[in-house]
Amino acid sequence: MTEKQVGLVHCRRYDADEVDAAVERAIELVGGIGAFVRPGQRVLLKPNLLMGAEPAKAVTAHPAVLGAVARLLAAHGCTVVIADSPGAGTRYTEKNLRRAYDTSGFSALEEIPGVSLSTDTASRAVSYPQGRVMKRFSIIEEALAADAVVSVCKAKTHLFTGYTGAVKNLFGIVPGLEKPVFHARFRNPADFAGMLLDLNGCVPPVLHVMDAVVGMEGDGPMSGDPRPIGAILAGADPTAVDVATIRLMGMDPGSIGTVAAAAARGLIRPDFSDVRVVGDDPAAVAVRDFRRPATGQAGMNVSWLNRLVLRFLQRRGTDVRPLPVPDPARCTGCGRCVLTCPAAAMRIEEGKARVDPGACIRCYCCHEMCTFGAIDLKQGAAGRLFSAFFR
Ligand code: SF4
Ligand code: SF4
Repeated sequence: MTEKQVGLVHCRRYDADEVDAAVERAIELVGGIGAFVRPGQRVLLKPNLLMGAEPAKAVTAHPAVLGAVARLLAAHGCTVVIADSPGAGTRYTEKNLRRAYDTSGFSALEEIPGVSLSTDTASRAVSYPQGRVMKRFSIIEEALAADAVVSVCKAKTHLFTGYTGAVKNLFGIVPGLEKPVFHARFRNPADFAGMLLDLNGCVPPVLHVMDAVVGMEGDGPMSGDPRPIGAILAGADPTAVDVATIRLMGMDPGSIGTVAAAAARGLIRPDFSDVRVVGDDPAAVAVRDFRRPATGQAGMNVSWLNRLVLRFLQRRGTDVRPLPVPDPARCTGCGRCVLTCPAAAMRIEEGKARVDPGACIRCYCCHEMCTFGAIDLKQGAAGRLFSAFFR
């Protein structure tokens, strides 16, 4: 198995000059922009947009990082199209996209010559016979029309998958309201991870740039807290970029579903000895006490027994995972969670959201999509017992 290089450059602030220099050097460390794209190519720049949020909240890739990559591509002679489909509960419409771009600070990037923001919401189904769990995907047209895809991801925790970074970022090329179908079909994080690997095989980005200047800890990907890390990473292999980033976040890469699934498929060595980080010292920016999500999906460095139990919980542990519970005091009754829920477990009663615990599959799409932060996670007795023993 060949070595997978990941460029890592310290970058402590979203100062435009500092970020531009860090992004360029991180990409230089893995071969330079010319190793990934050619002049004249139409390149899809795929940010982590989710549903749009102010840059200071650390929900989206920061516009300074996205802009730095866009400028590099444009200077290399590429036509750059920034496009994404918002998160699961948001309709994939021109209006919603424009709002998400505005809120995230992406709209200003259109001033860069050769760079545009797409509001095209077309998509089509494509076959992927090599897929292990998915042989057909619905993909946004901008991804299919591009000569190359460059992903700009964000280092965050995730209630359902434990961590979201390079591999998970590509889920955004599945059009908006089709995403809950995947959550309904792949109900546990391990199976969901296999689907994400298939998606990365179906439309493989040529380059992944990780915004880990400020990451998100706690209940990501939407409602966690910003946490400075201080690095930009870049690489051709999404799992290798994720392994390097997960370590910066003080977690065990093997406890993350997409990494474990990639190792099981032979895409990366189980001990990650084929991941080589080049550039600045990772230890100088690694955050040891990065806060995990309340679901406990993002593992610590665990013993073999704990790892076994965590695997069991990932496959069979719906009952011990916390239940999303809307708080009537904060809930506005907007209904976004109802629209998002793949299991039809959410409903609005007397103007407030309510969850049916028996129907809920604990995918946490509702938590991810509630912009009012009105959904708490409450763990039952069985979950508390497991937590006491194994965390
Ligand atoms: S829980 Fe959140 S998303 Fe659901 S109705 Fe209430 S405010 Fe809207
Ligand atoms: S109510 Fe349960 S199944 Fe529905 S979106 Fe929320 S976590 Fe997922």
